[in-house]
Amino acid sequence: MPWVKQEDCTGCGTCVEECPVGAISLVEEHAQIDMEQCIRCGKCHDVCPEEAVRHDSEKIPEEVRANVEKAKNMMEACAKYLGSEEEKQKCLNRIIKYFNKEKIVAEKTIEALKSLCK
Ligand code: SF4
Ligand code: SF4
Repeated sequence: MPWVKQEDCTGCGTCVEECPVGAISLVEEHAQIDMEQCIRCGKCHDVCPEEAVRHDSEKIPEEVRANVEKAKNMMEACAKYLGSEEEKQKCLNRIIKYFNKEKIVAEKTIEALKSLCK
């Protein structure tokens, strides 16, 4: 999914004009994408002269860090509200279980999507 690296966007408006579904607007001279409207056509990537429209994969390290930070906060909260340090480990196990479920959902979705291309 595309996203706009705000510091590289000059607000030229080319992507706004080229987006076939009107999913991009300029907010304070920087492009913003409405992901609800975006159909993942990739046009904005191709036309941006600044290469400011970036791919989702670049955000993987950032997302992993955010997930870990969130997990740590949840573990602390479990210990605090449930009154025992042991709750941290139980909480962590539940979080890992959740991400394993998400992984399976992603794998099965990819398999199902591949069959659409046949
Ligand atoms: S990928 Fe296509 S639909 Fe989505 S914002 Fe870019 S140009 Fe618009
Ligand atoms: S084409 Fe690139 S530089 Fe121009 S408004 Fe869109 S994202 Fe910003």
